[in-house]
Amino acid sequence: MNENILVAVAWPYANSLIHVGNITGSYLPADIFARYQRLVGNRVIMVSGSDSHGTPVTVRADAEETTPLKIYQHFHAGFLELFQKLGLTYDLFTSTHTENHFKVSQSIFLALQQNGFLYTERQQQWYSPTQRRFLPDRYVEGNCYLCGYPNARGDQCDNCGNLLDATLLQNPRSKIDGEAPELLETEHFYLDLGKLQPEIVEFLRQRESYWRSNVLRQSLGQILATELHGRAITRDLDWGIPVPVDGWSGKCLYVWFEAVIGYLSAAIEWSQVVGQPQAWHDWWYNPQARSYYFIGKDNIPFHAVIWPAQLIGAGKAFGEIFEGGDAVALVAPYDVPANEFMNLEGQKISGSRNWAVWGLDFLSRYDPDPLRYYLTVNMPENRDTDWDWGDFLSRNNNELVATWGNLANRVLSFAYKQWDGFVPVPGELRPADQEILTAVEAGFQVVGEHLNAVHLRAAITEAVRLASEVNKYLDQAAPWFEIKSDKAAAATTIYTALRAIDSLKILLSPFLPFTSQRLHTYFGYQEPLFGEQRVETHSDQLGEHTVLRYDPQKGRGQWKPSQLPAGQALKQPAPLFKKLDESIVEEERARLGT
Ligand SMILES: [Zn+2]
Repeated sequence: MNENILVAVAWPYANSLIHVGNITGSYLPADIFARYQRLVGNRVIMVSGSDSHGTPVTVRADAEETTPLKIYQHFHAGFLELFQKLGLTYDLFTSTHTENHFKVSQSIFLALQQNGFLYTERQQQWYSPTQRRFLPDRYVEGNCYLCGYPNARGDQCDNCGNLLDATLLQNPRSKIDGEAPELLETEHFYLDLGKLQPEIVEFLRQRESYWRSNVLRQSLGQILATELHGRAITRDLDWGIPVPVDGWSGKCLYVWFEAVIGYLSAAIEWSQVVGQPQAWHDWWYNPQARSYYFIGKDNIPFHAVIWPAQLIGAGKAFGEIFEGGDAVALVAPYDVPANEFMNLEGQKISGSRNWAVWGLDFLSRYDPDPLRYYLTVNMPENRDTDWDWGDFLSRNNNELVATWGNLANRVLSFAYKQWDGFVPVPGELRPADQEILTAVEAGFQVVGEHLNAVHLRAAITEAVRLASEVNKYLDQAAPWFEIKSDKAAAATTIYTALRAIDSLKILLSPFLPFTSQRLHTYFGYQEPLFGEQRVETHSDQLGEHTVLRYDPQKGRGQWKPSQLPAGQALKQPAPLFKKLDESIVEEERARLGT
């Protein structure tokens, strides 16, 4: 019955901070989903890491006159801090700059080559005579050959928005020293996507019935409309993974090609870290295992088309090359529940204009669960959404505090005070008591189905609706008055409400893990709902690298209705959430864009 679930999460580029749009786009939905699957009893590994190679990192290093390694390490450390504070339970969050990832990526490359899915081609590329190196497309600026805009980047024009062929730029100049580059011939490896097209179409057809429409549109829809072309997978760059072929020194695997391989390499590294080096086979060689890729919509083609192509193309040859012996084919993605974008106060989030709510900055002023709550009810699952500070305030005060937090706090406080710190012993349950418990317990099925289908907004909406039902039940039964005339009847009401809240705590725990755990201790339970997160430092031939790890061992939470024992000793409760003052709306808006 226990299933193997791989939760594969987008790899943040180690060249900028993480904002709320990134969090709601991929990291948070992945964590909610992983926590739920663990509560159900499935075997989950949630993996990701910092994307440490590629031009964005080298551009930033050049701009700051430092090394790409230092840039990657700086941002990576910030990611680990944020993810811990936000409670993102990565079984392993590592980076692409590890010996293991190099070896796995090179093995995928060699497997594709062995199976005939790579070819080489000579092309023209801008070369800087002053720097004596080839320039990545992003390093060259010039006049757009489509609209004439004078500051177009080699890869894209910010004025007309078109993707450009860098070699066609007019009046080209190097971003590094402003000098004019010249076109020289260079040779690169290409992934033969055209040859893999029938297999990719077949792969997508098998998933057509349950994938999100935005993902299908950008994968199957586009492939059926146009033929796939080969895509360069190497480039002239010295920061990255060397091409594992003699005579190709000075060239690296293109970052888009190797970063997605991180989902596989991180699972392999996780296996080594937990001391079961073959454990990753249970997810990657097991056709019954389900793999979910949590990404933003800008990454759909890479995860729904190109990564499956790499996996299908590498096939069994990967295992033979990587670890020898008989191997089986790697498991292709089961689902790619990509999210749309979140805007901020009606405008696109922009890091360079500081039009953003940054994760760590937010958490310096607010608690993590209100952020997780707002980013879930407002998650861009089917269309773009908007972060609005006024909406954040009212959702926090009217839903999180008023509907859920106050319910838990007033019932627990009343029980703690009136029954001397113990769960009251109920009499026989009356129809209204049975009814509310039945309604809440049905939530395990309904909310669970939404979670399993990655419909997280629907899931949290249903859980909060059930909390409202418990509020209505209490308004009717009014135990605060009932106790004056009939303490036994009030005991039955409060026991019923406590048990409903104890169940709601589990239903809400994937979304609100910190406050659910606190509530769990107020109920007097000793063993925690969830496991533990920690940062570790590992070393290999490339040096030391830090990772975030989640150890699920101590977590005892289960996705099933409360069996709250009457007479259990409670702990002194305290409010779960803070009511926020209206003044924060103007204060926070004033921070934007400055
Ligand atoms: Zn243009």
